[in-house]
Amino acid sequence: MNEINEIWDSVLAQMAEEISAVSFETWIKTVEPVEIKGNEIVLSVKNSLNKNMLVTKFRSMLESCIEMAAGRTYELNVTVEAELPGTSAAADSGEEFASGLNERYSFDNFVVGGNNDLAYSTALAVTETPGRKYNPLFLYGGSGLGKTHLLQAIGNKFHELYPNKKVLYTTSEKFTYELVNAIREKSNREFRNKYRTVDLLLVDDVQFLANKEVTQEEFFHTFNAIYDAGNQIVLTSDRLPSETPHLTDRIKGRFSMGLLADVQPPDYETRIAILKSKIENEYFTFDEEIIEYVANNIRSNVRDLEGAVKRILAYAGIERTNTISIELAQKALKEIISTLPKRNITISVIIDEVEKYYHLPSGSLVTKKRSNDIAYPRHIAMYLAREVLDESYPRIGEEFNRDHSTVMSAVKKVRKSLQGDKELAEKLEDLVNNIRKN
Ligand code: ADP
Ligand code: MG
Repeated sequence: MNEINEIWDSVLAQMAEEISAVSFETWIKTVEPVEIKGNEIVLSVKNSLNKNMLVTKFRSMLESCIEMAAGRTYELNVTVEAELPGTSAAADSGEEFASGLNERYSFDNFVVGGNNDLAYSTALAVTETPGRKYNPLFLYGGSGLGKTHLLQAIGNKFHELYPNKKVLYTTSEKFTYELVNAIREKSNREFRNKYRTVDLLLVDDVQFLANKEVTQEEFFHTFNAIYDAGNQIVLTSDRLPSETPHLTDRIKGRFSMGLLADVQPPDYETRIAILKSKIENEYFTFDEEIIEYVANNIRSNVRDLEGAVKRILAYAGIERTNTISIELAQKALKEIISTLPKRNITISVIIDEVEKYYHLPSGSLVTKKRSNDIAYPRHIAMYLAREVLDESYPRIGEEFNRDHSTVMSAVKKVRKSLQGDKELAEKLEDLVNNIRKN
């Protein structure tokens, strides 16, 4: 094990003694030691909230723990993961074309089971006879169940089969964002050119078109242009068009006129098959017993299954063992299971907790009121939704009945005032602790 990891292990042990368990879990355990660079120890954290907490609240404690561990002083250099080049989600997961496609997703590495076979076979059919059979194909189902994977696989296969045709993958949020920019910059013509002339349009997460009338209007025309030209559209959503509130009837009508195919959580056999496929290229071998243990304990979705495998592999790496014991798997899963409650945290939980914290009547943060006693906590709640939940600006805007630019500027404001404001850092720490108890 290299020096930085040894030092960091000792720092963790010391910090665990110094601060509360919740603070430790939230602020310290999430830190990744990166490297020692001259007089600096480089650490990486998930977001600016974690960074601000480290530098405003824990810096001196950390520096003295580091000194104890290393026998000399180092300065802290804290970087935010998303800001490091090459570590964004897209860069992390493979190459990206201008088409928005990511080669990581294919039909070959998609495991088919009773929970997703309709979605899989219709997706494949679309690449074989685009524009003809199922148009649009509408894939729907819960989070982490493979919708984006299938959508991307369609795009990649299509590109392989028809290299001269145009494919475009986008999300409804990106579509909205680009439309808003096009309107502002009076570049509607380029926008239309980009979207209406493709042979295959893939739009992820269309549930976020809800409430956005102007975008729905534009999307309706985009849809028609592509459809009328005999080209193919594939959409995904977390629910059926008919169950999506605040979509215009004509959009719902368009979405439902092809085929609606659902993806469900994987059953036990499919979970086993997925786990096997995720570890087949790994250096470590997993006994059947361990695969069964994971499949029995992680039932929610494929994303969590992948997370479980990654954890186990990371533990095996740390313990420098090449055989994975059931104890090791249990230890690794305990972590995941203990972070699972996080799944219950939603924007509305954050709103509730912030209202309680500031002694505001329930619901006041989502009203239109602008007085300072409400506006300030509202900014804090928006900031937390962004940093704790990693929610997108449009999603947060929806919950607060504001547009995404309002949310962006609120988040920016809080970020700025956090710099050096120890009191605010402490308030946020309390708030996050309250939120995580949910
Ligand atoms: P969704 O878009 O439905 O939230 P994703 O497509 O992002 O879910 O899937 C989450 C993760 O699980 C991705 O890494 C994806 O590759 C993987 N995944 C989902 N379903 C399968 C499957 N059937 N076989 C293999 N990997 C899968
Ligand atoms: Mg998705």
